[in-house]
Amino acid sequence: MNLPSRYDSPMTARRFPLHLACSRCDATFEIRALMNLCPNDSAPLLAQYDLTPAPELRDEIRSRPATMWRYRELLPADDEREIVTLGEGITPLLRSTQFENVWIKDESKNPTRSFKSRGMAAAVTMAKRLGAKTLAAPTAGNAGAALSAYGARAGLPVFVAMPRDTPQSIIDECRSYGAEVELVAGVITDAGKRVAQYIAANGGFDLSTLKEPYRVEGKKIMGYELLEDLGRLPDVILYPTGGGTGLIGMWKAFDEMQRLGWIGSERPRMFSVQSSGCAPVVRAFNEGLETAPEWESPETGAWGLRVPRAVGDRLMLRALRDSKGGAIAVDESQIETAAAELRHTEGIDAGPESGAALLALRELQKTGAIATSDTVVLFSTGGNKYQ
Ligand SMILES: [Zn+2]
Repeated sequence: MNLPSRYDSPMTARRFPLHLACSRCDATFEIRALMNLCPNDSAPLLAQYDLTPAPELRDEIRSRPATMWRYRELLPADDEREIVTLGEGITPLLRSTQFENVWIKDESKNPTRSFKSRGMAAAVTMAKRLGAKTLAAPTAGNAGAALSAYGARAGLPVFVAMPRDTPQSIIDECRSYGAEVELVAGVITDAGKRVAQYIAANGGFDLSTLKEPYRVEGKKIMGYELLEDLGRLPDVILYPTGGGTGLIGMWKAFDEMQRLGWIGSERPRMFSVQSSGCAPVVRAFNEGLETAPEWESPETGAWGLRVPRAVGDRLMLRALRDSKGGAIAVDESQIETAAAELRHTEGIDAGPESGAALLALRELQKTGAIATSDTVVLFSTGGNKYQ
């Protein structure tokens, strides 16, 4: 498919030229058609901007309306009329009432109450612009809800496959936006296979985590927002990790921010938080592996963390190591109690994934990996939706 690229038109000339680049080999691609993984090696493709220093842009962006699209120079859509938005992003960064120097990024304030909205806003915008007729994705829960809402907003049909035991509230939420939901035996990787079958039979575009290049672009704006809110980057980021798009996205954002002249070479230490019931990234990190083999029999009530194998494993592990951070598995049996504690003591709409991040904070402070003087951002990735 060879569509004319509107990026060539002076009417929509963007500040920074943009192309896609493979995260593994040196292949690059113009943005002219829908693409999934790299055709050479099946690695994720990432959007790369030819950035030049633009210190003035930082203040200009802040003066714009409070959605993630205020960062439009650093996002893949530049014609505002094409943007599919429900007002995602620019979520509150709240000072913890319980912990010194700890801030909570409350992602439940996004549309469909989770950080998944950010990625889907960018991905659905680009899928629609590049001619997708149907949108499809597997989900562990919240991504499906977000895709269903953004698909409705875009006027495109949505097919979502998810594990049969996904909480009914999430299934109902997807259907409430008009999505076709199919329940499959197994976990998200099995749902992914079903999506591939569906697309082979019916057509449609696969928006699986990191199997298209734009969800990570939406998610990366979380990194920009930390600088906006704190005036500097935190020392530590605690990130509940399923597919890891946000972790990869923020790490990419810090590099972009340095090239824009907004920060120096400093970086937060990034910690991936998983459950003891499904911790493929933690195991791979601890074993010094470059990729994360599939976790057998994943079991966790933090549904967003029930991702036994991640397409972005290599990118995640590299970011964790380059940041001098780490990966930690918390006790599955304590996650729900910790999430309730966040709700009771901080007053935020926190799901179990956020409870896992709280347990990680305690554990890493206890071992000394995080000092009480460190500025920490704990990501509360979604609301308490599994009821
Ligand atoms: Zn490649």
